[in-house]
Amino acid sequence: MKQKHGTNAYDVVVLGAGISGLTVAHSLARAGRRVFLAEATNRTGGVFRSDKVDGYLLERGPNSFTCSPVVDELLREIGLLKRAIRRPLRDYDRFVYKNGRLHQVPTGPLDLLRTDCLTTRGKVKLISGLLRANTPPRSDLSLGEYFRPRIGDEAVDTLLRPFIAGVYAADADRLSFEASLPRLYNPATTHSRLIGAVRAMLRERRASAPTPTKGKNSRKALVSFPNGLEEFPRRLTRIIRKHGVDMELGRTFRIAGKQGETWELKDEDGNSVHAGKVVLAMPAGQTARALELIVPEVTEVLDGIRYAGLTVVHSGVSAWDVRAREKGFGFLNAQLPGEWHANPSARVRALGMIWSDQLFPGRAPTGMGL
Ligand SMILES: Cc1cc2nc3c(=O)[nH]c(=O)nc-3n(C[C@H](O)[C@H](O)[C@H](O)COP(=O)(O)OP(=O)(O)OC[C@H]3O[C@@H](n4cnc5c(N)ncnc54)[C@H](O)[C@@H]3O)c2cc1C
Repeated sequence: MKQKHGTNAYDVVVLGAGISGLTVAHSLARAGRRVFLAEATNRTGGVFRSDKVDGYLLERGPNSFTCSPVVDELLREIGLLKRAIRRPLRDYDRFVYKNGRLHQVPTGPLDLLRTDCLTTRGKVKLISGLLRANTPPRSDLSLGEYFRPRIGDEAVDTLLRPFIAGVYAADADRLSFEASLPRLYNPATTHSRLIGAVRAMLRERRASAPTPTKGKNSRKALVSFPNGLEEFPRRLTRIIRKHGVDMELGRTFRIAGKQGETWELKDEDGNSVHAGKVVLAMPAGQTARALELIVPEVTEVLDGIRYAGLTVVHSGVSAWDVRAREKGFGFLNAQLPGEWHANPSARVRALGMIWSDQLFPGRAPTGMGL
């Protein structure tokens, strides 16, 4: 096993070389820590994966991320800032699919009055729900339990439920409010009006944001790179190797014990590595396996965290279909069972669709769509 400074002792061992493990390893190495990064598979990047197939650039995992000053700083440090392609969020319309067609999602108060994605009754319920006083929740509840009595079923099913399904691939009626929207949950426990909680969240977000980036990078934007999002972990991998991080692929470690202030980790072949700190940057099930020798009681809790399965389907569409399509980011599926029970063939069996070729250049051959 490769050893740094003639020893297998490190300041920090990081398990998992997805984007989380890579960024942690990068900032620790920059701070002068001796770092060992172990990855179970034979590639870094975790779920980030960009493949070129028949002239299309396919994102098999994440498609883009939202820019922020912190991420911009990281991109600058690793020399990727100039390669970042930014797409201002407000330039892209978003749609929901219901009642057999696409409806543009409102993005401001005026849009809300004009939108055809909610009935007048739905709009009144939503607006009055924002303003009406209610008892704040005393403990965590599902998003549905919090929002349905406030803004009404129609707004939840048309706007919130598809949004939550699009982000978490999860059901808003079962997902924890605190875990999924913590920045809103905290003020919601003290404000009786939803509008008050939303305002407090926005104030807190502005106050906690680092110094904003100036100029053309300052607008809220989606970011990717010419060769896809995987450029990000690939570049990070190169840079952290240059910074002296020891990295091993195809290795799975478990924490075997602690002597004094030092953790001992062992791989499948019994090789050990020692560190003052261990960072676990892997999914819950694998984290349970890494911890089961030293804290078996947490394995049941971690194994109980359910992950939603998700299939990404790429479809190349003809120039004719591209012309017929709306312009924007894509759509989320707001169909309710009632809609497709009446007409099963109208059922859209997808959480939604991203119109990748409209977001970033080079995603599809000329004239075609993705
Ligand atoms: C299909 C899809 C689309 C998404 N779209 C977006 C998007 O558009 N925008 C966005 O912001 N987010 C998106 N996300 C979410 C985002 O991609 C993830 O939150 C993020 O990439 C998770 O990174 P991670 O490093 O925490 O985990 P992972 O990427 O899961 O990495 C964990 C790593 O740990 C490794 N590992 C596992 N067990 C061990 C072990 N025992 N020892 C060592 N290594 C181990 C794994 O092999 C893996 O490389 C999407 C996610 C998916 C799946």
